[in-house]
Amino acid sequence: MQDERPRRPIAAQNPFCYDAAMTDTAVLVLNQNYEPLNVCNPRRAFVLVDRGKAEVLENGRGYLRSLSFVFEIPSVIRLVYIIRRPRPRGRLCRRDVFLRDRHTCQYCGRRTRDLTLDHVLPRNRGGQHDWENVVAACKDCNHRKAGRTPREAHMHLIRQPVRPSFNPYRPFYHYLEEQVEWRKFIPGWQPDSGFS
Ligand SMILES: [Zn+2]
Repeated sequence: MQDERPRRPIAAQNPFCYDAAMTDTAVLVLNQNYEPLNVCNPRRAFVLVDRGKAEVLENGRGYLRSLSFVFEIPSVIRLVYIIRRPRPRGRLCRRDVFLRDRHTCQYCGRRTRDLTLDHVLPRNRGGQHDWENVVAACKDCNHRKAGRTPREAHMHLIRQPVRPSFNPYRPFYHYLEEQVEWRKFIPGWQPDSGFS
């Protein structure tokens, strides 16, 4: 039986031809005021630039080729208009707790990649899953403390956990080890920000 679906020309299905690795290439998108907005792929960057919605600030990612043109894949683009959007609030997630606690166990002070989340007042004793009750703890300390309060376990917190002020740039930090050209657009990053 014949397939009755309309057929699109091959070129429309796959207008670009590029190295498979390029599909994973990250392009930083800045707002018109140079605030980092998000990260997109080369194809999306091409569409934004081609439609006049964005300009290229940094190049150097290789090339996107079609039959009729070659597009130099940018590293950073900037929208030509401003996008206004509400600031997201800082949600509690493991990575941000570890960042706040500088990847250091809050009981023994050991800096390690092998961290767990500890509820200072255990959850089954009414402890909340919030910034003021969650700390980074190494596995040994978490195991030792078990379902007890620090006082019961004779353990001491290095510092009282607090809600960090939300940093809108943090979601970009894990790119910056590799994306050297992005660093000047994203404040507050230090080489060990991505340690996790
Ligand atoms: Zn520890």
